[in-house]
Amino acid sequence: MRWSDQSVTATREKQSALPGLGLAEMAAMPGHLRTVRSPDFKGMVFHEVLAKSALNKVPGASSMPFSWTINPYRGCSHACVYCFARGSHRYLDLDTGKDFDSQIVVKVNVAEVLSRELMKPSWQGEYVALGTNTDPYQRAEGRYALMPGIIEALGRTRTPLSILTKGTLLRRDLAQLAEMHQRVDVSLAMSIAIADHDLQQSVEPGTPSTRARLNTIAAAREAGFAPQVFLMPVLPHLTDSVSQLTRLLYEIREAGASSVMYGPLHLRSHVKPWFFEWLGREHPDLVPAYRALYPGASTRAPQQYRMELAARIRPIIRRFGLERGREERVFSVEAAREASALAAASQAPGLPEAPTLF
Ligand code: SF4
Repeated sequence: MRWSDQSVTATREKQSALPGLGLAEMAAMPGHLRTVRSPDFKGMVFHEVLAKSALNKVPGASSMPFSWTINPYRGCSHACVYCFARGSHRYLDLDTGKDFDSQIVVKVNVAEVLSRELMKPSWQGEYVALGTNTDPYQRAEGRYALMPGIIEALGRTRTPLSILTKGTLLRRDLAQLAEMHQRVDVSLAMSIAIADHDLQQSVEPGTPSTRARLNTIAAAREAGFAPQVFLMPVLPHLTDSVSQLTRLLYEIREAGASSVMYGPLHLRSHVKPWFFEWLGREHPDLVPAYRALYPGASTRAPQQYRMELAARIRPIIRRFGLERGREERVFSVEAAREASALAAASQAPGLPEAPTLF
């Protein structure tokens, strides 16, 4: 069993003793195997579970370029302050802040379950997306190595695949993905939105640096892919100046990205408190401006801001040859996120969960 050399198997008593974790509920979750910690992942708790299913149907699939998703993990150690997926932890009786960053549900049997699902006569080989809820190449993947089994199962059945990630661990699987790409469509995308190193590490404290991600783009290009970049979220007054956007898009172009999709910050209700806590601590001078942009229960930046951002960024995207006329799709993706959130609210805390998108 993975982690056997360094983990602490959590008995019911030990779980109850862990402070503020809600682990009694976690242990009662169908499929829960054990809860472990590791010295290599200080402050993190991993809940290993047996998933009943691996493929999640996308609600309202007609507006999305894929019909199915796979999420090997719930929670994400990349810990982006703005992460829209935080709400998914509410259904585990965990909080959407620190718990989301540090208590990760690991579907240890996801590849086996997926293999069985793909062998069903009803499976029609539709497009499958990874990275639509939490990051499949977050740090835990370095130890659990669930992705090679997932890729293998999809490749064996010639199922087209897309991956969206911030994780440089993607490089580990590039050869396997390139081999699969010879037989079926494989699309890779990296999320890169912040050029300034200190700001990036503050907003996305558990992620690889922007430079490391750009190098991963270059490696993907070298492996024969045409990687996309999701330049989102653009943070008002922090990353949206012409000079900042020009610098970042230049770096993205130089790294070998084929195209860019962008989108401004989206603040769902369960993310807002955590984001404003961070903003008040790190950039208190910007709190009034953000309150004006995202007043009350509003989740999206106002149309005026989105139009100003478009007027600024589109010419730069065009200038660097990174436009594929796909920015508009971001907004339909946002609509799909909302549909996914509603679907998630109607599901039990176990597995599978409804998909959402970065
Ligand atoms: S935005 Fe993506 S990478 Fe960041 S914490 Fe959320 S799921 Fe993880």
